[in-house]
Amino acid sequence: MRIVNEPQVYLVAKTQLVSEGLNAYLKDIGNPDWQADPAVSGGENLIEAAGRMCYRSWQPYDPKKPEATNPNVTQVRKGNEQYVANVLKSGHGSILEHVSMTFICRNVSRVFTHELVRHRAGMAYSQESLRYVRLDDIPFWLPEEAKSNPKAEARFKDVIDFLEKTQKELSDIFGIKDLNDFTTKKHLTSMFRRLAPCGLGTSIVVTGNLRSWRHIIAMRTSPHAEAEIRIVTGKIARICKNEYPNVFQDMEFDSDAGEWTFKYPKV
Ligand SMILES: Cc1cc2nc3c(=O)[nH]c(=O)nc-3n(C[C@H](O)[C@H](O)[C@H](O)COP(=O)(O)OP(=O)(O)OC[C@H]3O[C@@H](n4cnc5c(N)ncnc54)[C@H](O)[C@@H]3O)c2cc1C
Repeated sequence: MRIVNEPQVYLVAKTQLVSEGLNAYLKDIGNPDWQADPAVSGGENLIEAAGRMCYRSWQPYDPKKPEATNPNVTQVRKGNEQYVANVLKSGHGSILEHVSMTFICRNVSRVFTHELVRHRAGMAYSQESLRYVRLDDIPFWLPEEAKSNPKAEARFKDVIDFLEKTQKELSDIFGIKDLNDFTTKKHLTSMFRRLAPCGLGTSIVVTGNLRSWRHIIAMRTSPHAEAEIRIVTGKIARICKNEYPNVFQDMEFDSDAGEWTFKYPKV
């Protein structure tokens, strides 16, 4: 048994803007008076470009640029922050789906992963296989209530120890160490895991687009949500705010409730 401090979150990938491609497109439609802002992340520039393409609102109407401008548009918002602010306010959040972030969550339990994978829209998952990975060593995060109660903590540790020993005993009973056939080992490992605790530490890779992350953060940092998913999505929220301050400009931390809230929850 290995008691771990807290579930960890690593940002491992995010959408990049291919400036050469976007610039080539802008040139081909007649060079509108608009440029990606170098001070803003590629993702936020991509979101703005997607929105401006919809309405040909790169700049006010110019009859010399018929493919880039629109006679209905006499003025445009300047700057990514203002542009994205208006998108959030108007609730036209589909353009946020062009940008995604991928995290590896480590030492998270099956309690957590089971809740996380309920979020389907705009999400992708790859989860550590406990059919393949044998549980000779069980990492375990103790929730605060268990850690702060000595009797409960001792009980947790006893049970985890017992279940870990059971995994090893089953390995011995079936002589899994001496088997070469991987399929048989997989079947046995899968059978053993039925006696593993659902609080054991495991890993999941999760990709979500920014519209989905906004929704998940709102639902899962709420005080009504489970303790572990609140910790993990709280960490994800901080990374989102740091990476995409304009897309998350309406998200604030309510320190009394320990919750991230949105001015425009439905985008
Ligand atoms: C505090 C809390 C308690 C919970 N308790 C339980 C429980 O007791 N039992 C239980 O089973 N689950 C429970 N859940 C899980 C919950 O019911 C959802 O399954 C989960 O939060 C996923 O959210 P979502 O449905 O918004 O899906 P997401 O995939 O995150 O979808 C995002 C949004 O897209 C739209 N959408 C997605 N899929 C569809 C679709 N098929 N059709 C139409 N619109 C769609 C909806 O507007 C949805 O809100 C709980 C969740 C929380 C936060």
